Amino acid sequence: MSDTPWLHPETGQPMRRLEFHITYHCPERCSFCSEEHRMSAYEAFPVTFGRVARVLREQAERGIESVHFTGGEPTIHPQFVEILQLAKKLGMRTSIGTIGTRLADPAFAARALPFLDEALFSLHGPDAVTHESLTRRPGSFARLERAMALGRAQPGFRIFVNTVLVRENAHRLVETVKLARERGAELLVVSNVTPEGAGEDAYGALTLRLGEIQALVPQVIEAAGPMIVRFFGVPACALGDSRVFANDIHWNPRVTFEWVRHPDRVSLEGLYNWQPDRKRMQTATCGSCSWNQLCHGVFAKYVELFGDGELRGV
Ligand code: SF4
Repeated sequence: MSDTPWLHPETGQPMRRLEFHITYHCPERCSFCSEEHRMSAYEAFPVTFGRVARVLREQAERGIESVHFTGGEPTIHPQFVEILQLAKKLGMRTSIGTIGTRLADPAFAARALPFLDEALFSLHGPDAVTHESLTRRPGSFARLERAMALGRAQPGFRIFVNTVLVRENAHRLVETVKLARERGAELLVVSNVTPEGAGEDAYGALTLRLGEIQALVPQVIEAAGPMIVRFFGVPACALGDSRVFANDIHWNPRVTFEWVRHPDRVSLEGLYNWQPDRKRMQTATCGSCSWNQLCHGVFAKYVELFGDGELRGV
């Protein structure tokens, strides 16, 4: 790796976005959780405020302008509010990926929201039964609803929604999209289940076939109305005429800080990604596709289980 991985190898532009795993704990037990293995491996290693502060200051000096805190569930970091305050003091735009949790508490939300520009809320169904069949924690839907309501009441705060698409909730996807719209979401991310963590362990049972996803796309776009829609982890050709909604072509390069294991220790390291190609591959079909510079293909695990016969090229 170069000595300056935060500079684009061709243009020399500095990376602008930071993604930061500030905790390896989560009260939910989502059946598709991509972080489950890393949470098990690193739960004994707290990401202390001192460590977070050092990374934030260093990355601000390197040109980072926005930070997305994730986990585990980032709001349960014991110094979550202080972390947000420091990021704002360093001039960063702040966002989190959350399933609500502590933001459902009005007193906590009142302390945190003034330092938070936006949140990507995890909504996996239009009602408690569907959502909690996946999160496997009673009450998580009501907490998420409270957190989103408190966010809506905060002037200038932006609500985004991420819904992970698996076989179990696919038949409720359109209603989930409508609920996100009713709750004031500006952006909707429909995430294809990722073959990582628990998502890898049960990938064959969880994932939809690409043809099934393609059949849902027009309904999602119609139900979304004015929301911006992005499909994460879906090959562009599986989106048909709606391939402009592929997250691949709207994705921003990022440095991700997380624990990395070495033979004799773990260390908090920055992984610099200029392309959204994690766990994905292009196949022989992609060679003649006019979108092969824009689309990063299909999950390698999907090809292993189902082949690439559903890829059509553009
Ligand atoms: S053929 Fe390959 S590169 Fe082209 S859209 Fe499909 S997955 Fe992407």
